[in-house]
Amino acid sequence: MSKVLLVTGGSRGIGAAVARLGAARGYAVAISYLRNRAAAEDVVAEIVEGGGQALAVQADVAQEGDVQRLFREVDATCGPLSALVNNAGVLETQMRVDEMDAARLQRVFATNVTGSFLCAREAVRRMSTRHGGRGGAIVNVSSRAARLGSPGEYVDYAASKAALETLTLGLAREVAAEGIRVNAVAPGIIDTEIHASGGDPGRVERVKEAIPMKRGGQAEEVARAILWLLSDEASYSTGAILDVAGGR
Ligand code: NAP
Repeated sequence: MSKVLLVTGGSRGIGAAVARLGAARGYAVAISYLRNRAAAEDVVAEIVEGGGQALAVQADVAQEGDVQRLFREVDATCGPLSALVNNAGVLETQMRVDEMDAARLQRVFATNVTGSFLCAREAVRRMSTRHGGRGGAIVNVSSRAARLGSPGEYVDYAASKAALETLTLGLAREVAAEGIRVNAVAPGIIDTEIHASGGDPGRVERVKEAIPMKRGGQAEEVARAILWLLSDEASYSTGAILDVAGGR
């Protein structure tokens, strides 16, 4: 029986790269997406054409009912979950804190923080030996922003990722003796569509000279770090936050 990997936000960017690499490493892969069904179905088709198993489920991670339905569909279609990547994340148009309203803060925290907590909860209920599970691994996709603060751009996003890092630390300790490892990656500036949603599609080119390696990262480079943390190669690592940022 294949190991089962769920990647939230697997239709594009880093999540799609994790799904493709996970399938290549032998996981049956489930991806969730918010709106972009065509992109999600393309990822599934590519995996299936390559001889793998994949499933796409529309589910807003910020909605508790959607998260419960997502995990039930994965149970029914793929079997017992072995790995979760909490990847779905959003940022909004660049602005200062003195311009942010409550609705924006709620949207960013609902997806990046509440969504990750809810998916982690469902994963622990399935994987933990305390609940009769066989153990597993969770990787949360944080950001270097958590420790840089993103002034003038999106302090809200940076703060949401700091919360995700604290979830990583606390949950890792909570379930370490129950067969579950919980780690995070903290990517730097990766070439995906997320920068366009912040109103800055040329961000990678604009800031690359400030990166020690003088280039943005590729989604596949983040995916390799995530797959390593999920694998038995990382069997004694939990609560770790691995930078994938071209230097600091
Ligand atoms: P992206 O290209 O914008 O893709 C975002 C993905 O998340 C899409 O699959 C999207 O689905 C999904 N999504 C968004 N909101 C969702 C929700 N409420 N429920 C379910 N799915 C949702 O982003 P990315 O750059 O690959 O980023 C992936 C993760 O890496 C995020 O957590 C981001 O914060 C983090 N990160 C990115 C960078 C970077 O430079 N790119 C750096 C550090 C950290 P649809 O396709 O349906 O919209």
